[in-house]
Amino acid sequence: MTNTTKDFTADTRASHFDVEKIRKDFPILQQEVHGKPLIYLDNAATSQTPTVVVDALRKYYFEYNSNVHRGVHRLSQIATDAYEGTRKKIQHFLNAKSNEEIIFTKGTTDGINLIAASFGRGLIKQGDEIVISAMEHHSNIVPWQMMCEERGAKLRIIPINDNGEIIFEAYEGLLNERTKLVSIVHTSNSLGTVNPLREIIDLAHSKGVPVLVDGAQAVPHTHVDVQALDCDFFVFSSHKVFGPTGIGVLYGKKEWLQKLPPYQGGGDMILNVTFESTKFNDLPYKFEAGTPNIADVIGLGVAIDYIQKVGYSAISAYENELIRYAVQRLSEIEGLRFIGQAKKRAGAVSFVLENVHPHDIGTILDREGVAVRTGHHCTQPVMQRFKVPATTRASFAFYNTKEEIDALIKALYKVIEMFS
Ligand code: PMP
Repeated sequence: MTNTTKDFTADTRASHFDVEKIRKDFPILQQEVHGKPLIYLDNAATSQTPTVVVDALRKYYFEYNSNVHRGVHRLSQIATDAYEGTRKKIQHFLNAKSNEEIIFTKGTTDGINLIAASFGRGLIKQGDEIVISAMEHHSNIVPWQMMCEERGAKLRIIPINDNGEIIFEAYEGLLNERTKLVSIVHTSNSLGTVNPLREIIDLAHSKGVPVLVDGAQAVPHTHVDVQALDCDFFVFSSHKVFGPTGIGVLYGKKEWLQKLPPYQGGGDMILNVTFESTKFNDLPYKFEAGTPNIADVIGLGVAIDYIQKVGYSAISAYENELIRYAVQRLSEIEGLRFIGQAKKRAGAVSFVLENVHPHDIGTILDREGVAVRTGHHCTQPVMQRFKVPATTRASFAFYNTKEEIDALIKALYKVIEMFS
């Protein structure tokens, strides 16, 4: 990541990034924790929300709170326009062919569960196989395990090397006539690895296998074009892209979404109901049973406007520089070992310190105002692969600064001093 021409260009642009101006948009960052300025380095878990998003939620509840798709009255029409307007916005954001391909979910986990349940019910038979990788978040493991158990199918795992990269030849070896779907993370939340998605998808497609991409850690850092990737499904969560919690997006190619049965039944997903039978609604409503999370969909739309205003090229240039700096400073610490050193990485840096449990690190850093994540990061198989109980993870957003990384390093030296 650090030595390419692309990154050099990125650095030039990064120096013009006005981070102090951006930080003013995030009031939560202006506080102290335990008497120290808050240094928020847990963005992979949840990112912070700019004022414009909170203002949009307030406006919804104060000015036009009402149900969508149902009322002919004024408020319902405004709410419906804002809700459906966001669907179009997300269609363009992901470069989907049609807004029928955008389904609102509760988040990444919900999107994967939707596909696992629906794919399982509609298309999986005994002996079929689903391929995932060894670096998946539990959200991209457990739904498939549950579905495989129910349908008598088998979960196959692509192994990863010591750098935390998938072993491509092993992946190739796993694909066969029984493979029904590949479900893979775009960017690992615990290792920071960015997977070679185009190659992964092209290979699966050459065998007629569709691919779901877990984009939870990708969308905060990089522009995603679902047509360029040619993925069949793509999921992400709003709360990791500066939007509200409890909302997310599932993109699915229309031909797949048409083929799959609904996930849940209820209002809005039907055209006609009798006690004998139900005719399901058209896309995307077939997959949106019940009153949706209207306010937070609208909030997500505003968060996406915000990201686009900052601009992905500026974001990745700036963040690349931050990560490079973090890796460089962390590698100066004796006894620190990185978990995950992929050539292509984004968002997060995971490490362990000799003789100190990550939970102790997390607690001491917190007293210094530094918020990091410690634990298995919902990727227990990754911990098993690297034979560590847990790691400390610092994860970055475009509002973080090099000074904050310096504060992290200073706090880590304090930890080492306490344990020496
Ligand atoms: N996949 C990845 C790679 C993640 O990082 C996360 C969140 N940590 C999830 C899935 C689950 O996201 P959510 O909890 O928002 O559903």
